[in-house]
Amino acid sequence: MTQVRTRFAPSPTGQVHIGNIRAAIYNWLFARHEGGQFLLRIEDTDRERSTPAAVQAVLDAMAWLGLNYDETPVYQSTQTATHLAAAEQLLKAGHAYKEDKGGTGKGECIIFRMPGTDMGFHDEIKGDLAKKAADMKDFVIVRSDGTPVFHLANVVDDLHMNVTHIIRGDDHVENTYRHVALFRALGATPPKYAHLPMIVNAQGKPYSKRDGAAYVGDFRAKGYLGEALFNYLALLGWSPGGDRELMGRDEMARLFTFDRVQSSAAQFDLVKLLWMNGEYMRALPREQREAACRAVLQERGLWSEALPADYLGRVLDVMAERIKLFTEIGDAGYFFTEDFPFDEKSVQKRLKKEGALEALAAVRATYAALAEFTAASTEAALRELCTARNCGMGDLVHPVRVSVSGTAVGPSLFHLLEVLGQERTLARMDKALEKFKA
Ligand code: GLU
Repeated sequence: MTQVRTRFAPSPTGQVHIGNIRAAIYNWLFARHEGGQFLLRIEDTDRERSTPAAVQAVLDAMAWLGLNYDETPVYQSTQTATHLAAAEQLLKAGHAYKEDKGGTGKGECIIFRMPGTDMGFHDEIKGDLAKKAADMKDFVIVRSDGTPVFHLANVVDDLHMNVTHIIRGDDHVENTYRHVALFRALGATPPKYAHLPMIVNAQGKPYSKRDGAAYVGDFRAKGYLGEALFNYLALLGWSPGGDRELMGRDEMARLFTFDRVQSSAAQFDLVKLLWMNGEYMRALPREQREAACRAVLQERGLWSEALPADYLGRVLDVMAERIKLFTEIGDAGYFFTEDFPFDEKSVQKRLKKEGALEALAAVRATYAALAEFTAASTEAALRELCTARNCGMGDLVHPVRVSVSGTAVGPSLFHLLEVLGQERTLARMDKALEKFKA
């Protein structure tokens, strides 16, 4: 039995679209499932777009997602001689001919002669696909300037790399009829094909930059984990069966088969990705989670070496359920600085409301008298005060929260207070009372 060999064959443009990297993921999963090889070919024949930085973006995205490949990557631009030799072979065999396109005298290009019969191929995902001879025209394989065209380069490279399965986006289905014909004309058996349905937005249109983060680098910059994006994209069009969703790379590779890849478009769902990222974040070892959050805080100028060693860990215990992205810790800056911003709406609604500051002053007096300042003691004291004042908890909780954090939304108030401690809590209440009076 021949070894399965798949490849990822991106054309570097500077950024790696999630649709492309999902194709890489499926190639990787299938190769690993079959105990075969996963290869990388950089289709860098567009010299203007395929800059070293653009190539590096592909390599970085793959490394970040853990898409390890076998063998040395093939750079298509180094294979021109092989492509042209194949064109010569096609000419000799009568499968191609030369023509001065448009008769401009600029030179002749080489044109591939389609077989002239109806064609079909079996797609591992879409089933049997066919096309009428009348709908397929001969096409250029070498331009008049002597450069090979995509179709020729792509097929010849796959042939030389002994690729057995081509897994790519279904925007290539039309090309595949041409490619199958090329393989046959070169005396080779075409590889197996699996065309992946596109990724679409909520309106069913191809998912693009306009819909939000569309490139691997965007997700990385936003603080997503490579493992979570990998898991999410793998499930965008493939399901292992049952309702299992959180799975590592190796387990997905063990379960991956084409018959569980859907043939209809897959809708990108950011809410689900965020949820998944939160799950991966919480599953990380403590030190790793803290290190990632510390990096975000440092970047935002919110980190101080003077903080107690266990401080960030205590903040994360309180925030754990609320953070789905590392970068979100930066939105809870009030844990780390006295100079936190006040949200105007929250101030209007909670502090400038009739009686709010008077209530805040009453809580301040109660909290100043507490011998022990914990989540339990601050909550009990507030409940007592409520009873005494004959008011609702909200009348006290809301002004307190905005005074110590600047915002009306956040984690459990009493746990927040415990982390801040008595001294800082009282100082912040004093500051708010002063700042917002009249
Ligand atoms: N470079 C092409 C692309 O990125 C190759 C597609 C393929 O054959 O996988 O669309």
